[in-house]
Amino acid sequence: MGTEVERIALEAPPVRRMLWWKNLPRDERPLPITRAPRLMMTVYMSRWHRPRHGVVIPGGRGMLRIKCWCGSEVGNWSVGHEILTAASVPAGHALCGPCEGKAVGAGQEPTGITPLVRLLFTPSQFEEWRETLNLERAS
Ligand SMILES: [Zn+2]
Repeated sequence: MGTEVERIALEAPPVRRMLWWKNLPRDERPLPITRAPRLMMTVYMSRWHRPRHGVVIPGGRGMLRIKCWCGSEVGNWSVGHEILTAASVPAGHALCGPCEGKAVGAGQEPTGITPLVRLLFTPSQFEEWRETLNLERAS
């Protein structure tokens, strides 16, 4: 993760997960992180997401798993699968609509990032499916 990007406060992981982790040997338990950059994605994602909670997976590589407000997960679980971070949505990029709505609604930040960012609410493959299945847009 880039260190130059301001970090915002995250929620704690769900209690049910933390209770389950107590069954693991101490050196294998994921460690919750409390702050993360405002926006995150991987090169395989079509839009920026907002982090909700996350953990560092124990081990040498410093693997991160960040759960986003929409339910997507951002992680650096393989080589070449780095996490991209940003403080604001770069020009021409899109922001995940469910992430934006839920993060602002839950009070992670009082307002949205910017009113001019394109928000995407469709699943990332929806446009491809529509094309593949030759579906017409309902009017
Ligand atoms: Zn999202």
